[in-house]
Amino acid sequence: MSCIFCKILSGEAPATIIYRDEQVSAFRDFHPIARTHILIIPNHHIDSVNELEPGDELLVGHMVLVAKELAKQEGVAEHGYRLMINTGVHGGQTVPHLHVHLIAGKLARFLVG
Ligand code: 5GP
Ligand code: ZN
Repeated sequence: MSCIFCKILSGEAPATIIYRDEQVSAFRDFHPIARTHILIIPNHHIDSVNELEPGDELLVGHMVLVAKELAKQEGVAEHGYRLMINTGVHGGQTVPHLHVHLIAGKLARFLVG
């Protein structure tokens, strides 16, 4: 498996992992585009939103709730943040392992990622 995010999950590649449960993990983006930039990913490989199937609703909902909790933990919940899921080449997806960006900071609303 050559997926960089799967390597982060297995510990083969380094990352600052800040959250993990049975379904998802979260770590800091290594090229942050705002003061807070965290990626929330499923613990098993799914290429993108295009590969989601009926039955994945709980997983996707859980990713959003984890993002909400991390926003609170980061102290950015009150001022707000952006959750973003890029999909495919035209959607700006560069890593083909499903991920939610949690982006926050004064300028987060101007960023398109
Ligand atoms: P995408 O463009 O696919 O929506 O987002 C991929 C994100 O993953 C980018 O913001 C990029 O900086 C981040 N990224 C890519 N490779 C790595 C890595 O090896 N470690 C970490 N921490 N972030 C990565
Ligand atoms: Zn993967």
